Amino acid sequence: MQNIESSKKVFEFDVEKIRNDFPILEREVNNKKLVYLDNAATVQKPQAVIDAISNYYKLYNSNVHRGVHTLSQEASHHYEQARIKAAAFIGAKSAQEIIFTKGTTDGINLVAQSFVKPRLQKGNEIVLTMMEHHSNIIPWQMIAQEKDAVLKIAPISESGELVMDEFEKLISKQTKIIAVTHVSNTMGTINNVSKIIEIAKQNSIPVLIDGAQSAPHMQVDVASMDCDFYVFSGHKVYGPTGIGVLYAKEEHINSMQPYQGGGGIISTVTFNKTTYVQGPLKFEAGTPNIEGAIGLAAAFDYCNSVGMETIFEHETMLLKYANSQFKNFPQVKIIGTTEHKAGVISFALENIHPFDIGTLLDKFGIAVRTGHHCTQPLMNFFNVPGTTRMSFGIYNTTQEIDYFFGALEKVLRMLS
Ligand code: PMP
Repeated sequence: MQNIESSKKVFEFDVEKIRNDFPILEREVNNKKLVYLDNAATVQKPQAVIDAISNYYKLYNSNVHRGVHTLSQEASHHYEQARIKAAAFIGAKSAQEIIFTKGTTDGINLVAQSFVKPRLQKGNEIVLTMMEHHSNIIPWQMIAQEKDAVLKIAPISESGELVMDEFEKLISKQTKIIAVTHVSNTMGTINNVSKIIEIAKQNSIPVLIDGAQSAPHMQVDVASMDCDFYVFSGHKVYGPTGIGVLYAKEEHINSMQPYQGGGGIISTVTFNKTTYVQGPLKFEAGTPNIEGAIGLAAAFDYCNSVGMETIFEHETMLLKYANSQFKNFPQVKIIGTTEHKAGVISFALENIHPFDIGTLLDKFGIAVRTGHHCTQPLMNFFNVPGTTRMSFGIYNTTQEIDYFFGALEKVLRMLS
């Protein structure tokens, strides 16, 4: 109890004020107040993001980059402002290094198709880890199969940490890319990406960091990290769905060719030959997700107004608080027990399927995720069919965690 109380007090900020920014938190689910603990899947949106999208449609809806008229110029201005804000949000040197995508998955596919595939030959290797999301496995598997290349998988320990020595041993002259998640969506493990990048640089191997679970929860600085590529999704950083960011070093933006053709990316077109514009627009064929970029810019503003360090501290406090309460549930096995974690807790129980737990928790108004979390190889490693996962966002409270554990106790009684 001592620990719980002290972790509650370690960090205090006005979470009630934050909660007022999120209209959905007012709603009820199954006649209970919504307790949303599925933030690793997607987060709720603050009013400022909803307003930014609605203002775009109310005030200056128009296509970007092609019009001389006022509305088009306003829309283009806001769209490009979003690119500048994205660069600042992750510490990129310039907006010229920011490509708007549909999300993390889309960004990884772009790097696989446009950067790695043309450089990949028979027998070459792609290094991944055991804890990758399917989005950071399948795009590589697709090009590996096409080019007769091989995936090499770095192992993890029982506590869900990357085994660095083994990772290092996998690197060879055949390695063409290392693609690693910054934070595991299933376990919350924060990988030592600086170390990974340092090893990669010594061997002149490019690195892609899957930032889907780091960008929303911690201050990221791609320039000092010195990764080649960093990808994340708008909907996990309090922005809209259907928009994401691919950061690529400018030299890569210049050297890569687009893998999707269409309007907006060209300099000249004849039936014989097309030349492309320079910079990130080369990879944004067709009318882009304008409302998405504008909503995302508002999300960056929102996160900055709270402060990424504050967000990390708050979620770390919630993580410690919840972890200490799990000690009252010895029958629960936590998947991912390393010290260095973000606000995600996955757990499994023998003979109780996570779907049953999730379905019953929903009756209490609690949203958690159940299943394999798009990490089937990781589930196989831990020999579980799936887990129940609670994951925290900026608006979660210790009271919600108390409520969760009260409900969990009742649910486990019902199921045993
Ligand atoms: N990687 C990780 C680590 C994730 O958590 C997710 C989303 N769960 C993705 C990739 C894929 O993101 P999206 O579906 O937004 O493309």
